[in-house]
Formats: sequence, structure tokens, C-alpha cells
Amino acid sequence: MASDKGMRVQVAVRLRPALNPNEQRANRCVSGIDNKSLEIWNWRNTDQSLRFEFDAFYGADSQQKDIFKKSVRPLLAHPLEGQNVSVFAYGPTGAGKTFTMLGTQKNPGIIPRSLFTLFREIQRRERNATSSEWKYAVSFSYLEIYQEKVYDLLEIKSHDLPIREDQNHNIFIPNLTSKTISSVQEFQALFEPASKNRTTAATKLNSRSSRSHSVLLVKVEKSRETERELKTQVGKLYLIDLAGSENNKKTGNQGIRLKESGAINMSLFQLGKVVDALNQKLPRIPYRDSKLTRLLQDSLGGHAHACMLTNIAPEEEFYMDTYTTLNFAAKSRNVVNKPFVREISETKKPAKKRSLSSHDDKVTTKK
Ligand code: ADP
Ligand code: MG
Repeated sequence: MASDKGMRVQVAVRLRPALNPNEQRANRCVSGIDNKSLEIWNWRNTDQSLRFEFDAFYGADSQQKDIFKKSVRPLLAHPLEGQNVSVFAYGPTGAGKTFTMLGTQKNPGIIPRSLFTLFREIQRRERNATSSEWKYAVSFSYLEIYQEKVYDLLEIKSHDLPIREDQNHNIFIPNLTSKTISSVQEFQALFEPASKNRTTAATKLNSRSSRSHSVLLVKVEKSRETERELKTQVGKLYLIDLAGSENNKKTGNQGIRLKESGAINMSLFQLGKVVDALNQKLPRIPYRDSKLTRLLQDSLGGHAHACMLTNIAPEEEFYMDTYTTLNFAAKSRNVVNKPFVREISETKKPAKKRSLSSHDDKVTTKK
């Protein structure tokens, strides 16, 4: 009974504030309209701007808690009911993916907030429970997909880990480290050094962190023992900070960088194709075409719930990345029952030529 709702990937866009306060007004090429839509320059015709609509739009002054409350918290009931959820941050390097997922001490992001909410809900349920009710156990794993290879981030092993599927179509990684946790504090104590390790490695390896997908997997195992049987359910929550989506034509990548970009583009492209195929209800979903989508096979589509948090930056230097990012995100958005609105609207400055038919950026919803 896979409902349409379960298959739909929610798409939210977050615009980060300008980092240089002096540039706050100048050099902006994108701005919000309301809590679902935004406007961006049309580089093909400066008398016009392009308008995109998503499930949610979070403007530059939005807070971490707003994004969490509206786009993520509603999904967190599912892993407690044996269902899978995936939340991923997409967008170019520097647009705010890590800030959104991880955040800072003062401004915690989706990851700490999700763990906090899960544990609070489990405690609430256990407090109200009688002895015959469900018991919960939480564990987590942390891995990185770099150049189509899977690396454990909790215990550094230098080899690629294989992804497997069991007879019930659950996806798993046989030798991946998994740590049992019973509180947010326990989680932080194990997760923080691991994510710091990654940042250190990143500086050594020329910002590998922006060139790999970092995947946090939180597993909620639920069990209930009666005289006759032991029942268990497992729900998975994936919280993913994707590799930067910048295109390598602009960055002039060569050698290893070009190879990295190839792998990144390939897997992000495959992710886009999977989302597209799911939402168009195609008979074949191309999960197997990349490590990332293979890993997410049981957590994206079907009964699983998913949200793509798309991060964009306001500065002009990001314009082409922003433009391609919105097109990528809008394509996924479009896969829903009603086509997404990407209409041409006029800019506020007095435009002499107002003929809409003259625009050459033909609006299409397909690639
Ligand atoms: P990405 O992970 O996409 O490469 P980051 O999350 O590292 O981008 O963000 C780039 C910079 O912008 C960081 O210094 C980060 O702290 C800052 N930043 C990102 N989003 C916000 C935000 N919403 N508010 C304030 N600062 C932000
Ligand atoms: Mg980052």
C-alpha cells in the first residue's frame, strides 16, 4: 500500500544570508517571494526574472529551528514506526549545506535537533509504557562516499565497503561500524570526533569534505516480547550532507579534481534520476547506477519518506551554480501531481520591452 505521499520527495530551498555585510544589498541575484517561492535573474534576458516554487522556501533570515520544524520534524515519527526516512542537503560548496545539517554550537542544525527529538519521543513513549510495550534501541553509523567508494568514518578503515541487500530487500553494509547510543550526549561524544576527523582529512586532501557525500545513519530498533514471540521493527533515518554540486567547467578542474568531479556529478545526476523516476512512477528506478542511490534504495521511494534541502547562496559569483541548482531541484519538485510553477515574472524596474514571448529561456519542466 505504497501511498503516493510516501513516494514523493519534498523539496525545500534555503537561501543563506550574504556573508559579507557590505554586500548585503548589492550583488544579489536571487530573492524570496513568499514561503514557497523565489525569484532569480534571468541571465538570458535581464528585463525578466525567473520564478520557482517549491514545497518550502526559507529566506536569508530563516532560523535553524524553522527549517527543522517545518521540513524535518514531521518525518521523524516514521523511523519510530519501522519506516525509513532520508533527508539530504544539496547545493554548491559554500551555500550552507553543512551549516544546515550540522550547524554550530550556538545554532545547531538538523542532525543534533533530530537526535534530540528522537530521544525525547522515545523517552516519552517509554515513560507512558507498560511492561508489555515496545522497547527502543538506537544506534548510528557514519560513512562517506568518495569517488564511488564507501568509507567508514567511525573506525577509519582505508578500504571500500560493499553495499548488500538481504532477502527482504533491506540494504546494509556488512562491516560498517555501528554504535549504540542512549542519549544525545552519547551521540555527540562519538559523532563529533568523527566529523572533526573528516574536516582534518579534508584540509589535507584539498577539501575532500566538499567532494564526498557524508552519510549519517540512525537506526531505531523497536522490540516487544510477549509469551509467544519477540517482535522487532527497524526504522532508518539517513541524514546526508551531499558533495558540492558546482560544475567543473567553471572551476577548471583537472586531473584528480576532474576525476572527483566526474564521480560527484555522476552520483548527483543519478540521485536526480532516481527522484525523477520515483515521482513519475516509472517501472524501473535506477538505484543501482551509483553507490549513493544504491545505499538509499530502501530509504527513498516506496514506503520511505524523503526531503531534499536545497541550499543556495545570494552572491553573484554563485549565480550559475544557483541557476543549475534550482533547475535540478525544480525538476524533482515537478515530479509531483501538479506541475511546478516556474513562470517568468517581470522585474520591478521599469522595463521597456515587456513582451513575454520574446524570452528565449523557454520554460520546460523536463530536461
Ligand atoms: P557548504 O557545506 O554548502 O559548503 P557551509 O555550510 O560550510 O556550506 O557554509 C559556508 C559558510 O557560510 C560557513 O562559514 C557557514 O557558517 C556560513 N553559513 C551558511 N549558512 C548560513 C546561515 N544560514 N546563516 C549564517 N551563516 C551561514
Ligand atoms: Mg560542507
